Amino acid sequence: MLGSKLPGKVIQNINSTFVGGGVAEILNRMVPLLGQLGVDARWDVIKGDTDFFQVTKKFHNALHGRQETITKADFEIFKETTEKNLKEMELKGDIIYVHDPQPAGLIARKSKSGKKWIWRCHIDVSHPNEEVWRFLEPFVVQYDSAVFSAPAFSRELPIRQFLISPSIDPLSDKNKELPQETIDSVMEKYGIPKDKPIITQVSRFDYLKDPVGVIEAFEMVRKSINCRLVLAGGTASDDPESEKVLTEVNERAGDNPDIHVLLVPPNSDIEINALQRASTIILQKSLREGFGLTVSEALWKAKPVVASAVGGIPLQVKNKLTGLLSHGIAGTAFALRQLLTNPDYAKWLGQNGKEHIRYNFLITRHLRDYLLLFISLEHPGDIIHL
Ligand code: UDP
Repeated sequence: MLGSKLPGKVIQNINSTFVGGGVAEILNRMVPLLGQLGVDARWDVIKGDTDFFQVTKKFHNALHGRQETITKADFEIFKETTEKNLKEMELKGDIIYVHDPQPAGLIARKSKSGKKWIWRCHIDVSHPNEEVWRFLEPFVVQYDSAVFSAPAFSRELPIRQFLISPSIDPLSDKNKELPQETIDSVMEKYGIPKDKPIITQVSRFDYLKDPVGVIEAFEMVRKSINCRLVLAGGTASDDPESEKVLTEVNERAGDNPDIHVLLVPPNSDIEINALQRASTIILQKSLREGFGLTVSEALWKAKPVVASAVGGIPLQVKNKLTGLLSHGIAGTAFALRQLLTNPDYAKWLGQNGKEHIRYNFLITRHLRDYLLLFISLEHPGDIIHL
């Protein structure tokens, strides 16, 4: 058992939110499962005010390559909040596993204490805003190792890099099988009739998920095919931009009775699961993406998926085999039409997609990768017998 090779070792995960977004989603499942394998895994979050999270959201967008104006004051806010967290946070892990840029500055506490530090980057930083990357890099290079989701996401660094893709837990409330009555009651609760095909995108209300572009693509499809659109999303406590995006989405949707914009409360896993299962097609029209867990969630439910070819999406959607990759609004509308008018093809894609997730993106594989990573840090040079 790999878990037994880490006796007494504490793995301390640190990120910036317990709720909302893919990182919290994974940690929610990973931390208890590591515990069940005999590993003392913990999870803490850094503290920050709205100013700090406004800055880190800008960093997030800029690292994804989006145009952002970053000021000197922004860098100061980041440093000040980092200082506060450095004073207040108890670093109790033998391995300190820091997720994403927000808490990256905690590395200043790395001393000769023997703790191992890993920076887990969930963002595609292959084409970042250089100014933000130059600010972040001096923190990153002090870590013992960095973990990226895919080769294409990483950068040249003078530290060891590991490539570990994220995963979904098939037994979680988000992904487990649901009785039809549960699915029906969720649809009823949100007032979505099941009278015609439903296209759904589940995402935080974030510009990079392009919800307005989703509406535009839907409107093009709706001209020739009678169908509905569901845009379901929530907010994240480390994402202050979402309310503004939601307002724009509601304005753009107007009073179109075929467009359902749903603000879903945090921890509504069964509801999200039900919405995905009730859908005819799942869309993920991101402009930039980390891994894009929602795509794995949809494919695991054997749903036909149309998704942009960005970030980790092409790892999950093999074009014309496990879904359709699309480019732009017209391209997305074209792919949606193709699936709506070819239900057998759509079904075949969804079934292939499910198998692809089974072999590559379930949490069992992810747990094993993490255990091997931790063991390789704690026992450098050892040969691990599996
Ligand atoms: N999610 C959710 N409720 C929402 C919106 C998203 O539970 O209202 C979940 C979604 O099911 C997925 C995660 O949040 O598990 C989003 O992860 P992803 O990697 O797709 O995107 P991120 O938000 O990290 O950019």
